[in-house]
Amino acid sequence: MNPIALIGTSPITLLVAHALAKSHEITIFEENSTFGGAWSKKDVDGNRINTKSNILTPLCKQEEKWIDAINRHLMKHFSIEPKPISSRVKLINDYVPKTVYDYDMHPLFQHCRNTHTIVAETVRSIKQLSDSVIVNGRSFCKLFIPTYAGINHIDTESTRIATPFTVIVSKHLNILTDRQVERLFYYTEERDDILDRVQYKDIGNTYSLTARIGLKFKQCSVQELVDNANFTPSEMHSITYKAIECYKNYYRDGAMKQQLVTAIAQCKNISHLDTTQFVASFIGISHLLDLD
Ligand SMILES: Cc1cc2nc3c(=O)[nH]c(=O)nc-3n(C[C@H](O)[C@H](O)[C@H](O)COP(=O)(O)OP(=O)(O)OC[C@H]3O[C@@H](n4cnc5c(N)ncnc54)[C@H](O)[C@@H]3O)c2cc1C
Repeated sequence: MNPIALIGTSPITLLVAHALAKSHEITIFEENSTFGGAWSKKDVDGNRINTKSNILTPLCKQEEKWIDAINRHLMKHFSIEPKPISSRVKLINDYVPKTVYDYDMHPLFQHCRNTHTIVAETVRSIKQLSDSVIVNGRSFCKLFIPTYAGINHIDTESTRIATPFTVIVSKHLNILTDRQVERLFYYTEERDDILDRVQYKDIGNTYSLTARIGLKFKQCSVQELVDNANFTPSEMHSITYKAIECYKNYYRDGAMKQQLVTAIAQCKNISHLDTTQFVASFIGISHLLDLD
């Protein structure tokens, strides 16, 4: 079994890890204690909530044709049940999908945590040799690097290739309520300046609201956000938990992505995983997956 390494635990990376595990020994480098990257979750009083708002949605008709294949794959391999959403979804993108589903990616995270070798280290050193790649001193036949990995260079035997990124810390409001608030939407990217990418979920006997905090309000306390977010008095009264979650993202703009792709193209034993957007990324990795 040839050893393969991957960086990070975002869903697309884990789907690739799972697919390759049939014929390879898998090692995943993850610097965070939580799994999922931008899709990670946390437990609050026994409720598993998204800390960032996440939606798996096609951005055009062509992508929508893949939703059934995604649903079947997640169900078959990880028992992740797609739940059709009846409330509204408002995306900045003009395309309106026929059906939007809600997913809980936790079983994928659990499965991979229990199955693969997880190395709790930040990858600081990658060296492409003539026939293998060395990651933090360990040798692999292949390394997969997702788009937003915090890797600022790759060494070859003759040169160092820069792969820059920008650290962006986004902040997210996490609220639990004992009653459904703002019930019109499942997800909206157009609320106001304070909260965008707002997602409402019914998670059993409680409701969650997860939203990205607008740029001008990033320094506010959680109480200031709640006070200014235009909730009704009854909604305010129903809040049982409130917190701000910070996410450190190794962001790459178009030019930086291209630099990463070009750098990796010079390395025989390294591949790029385009993880920019879930559905497009799933299509991009579909040749690696065992699809029905
Ligand atoms: C807050 C946020 C929300 C998003 N929501 C959506 C969404 O709803 N739908 C959608 O389609 N797309 C969404 N995206 C786009 C998103 O970028 C992708 O869906 C996907 O998660 C990107 O995967 P990634 O592995 O490149 O980056 P990330 O998800 O950021 O994951 C990177 C992972 O690698 C680890 N890591 C990074 N560098 C190192 C290192 N040097 N050593 C060890 N570990 C490392 C991190 O700890 C993390 O686990 C979102 C992005 C952000 C930032």
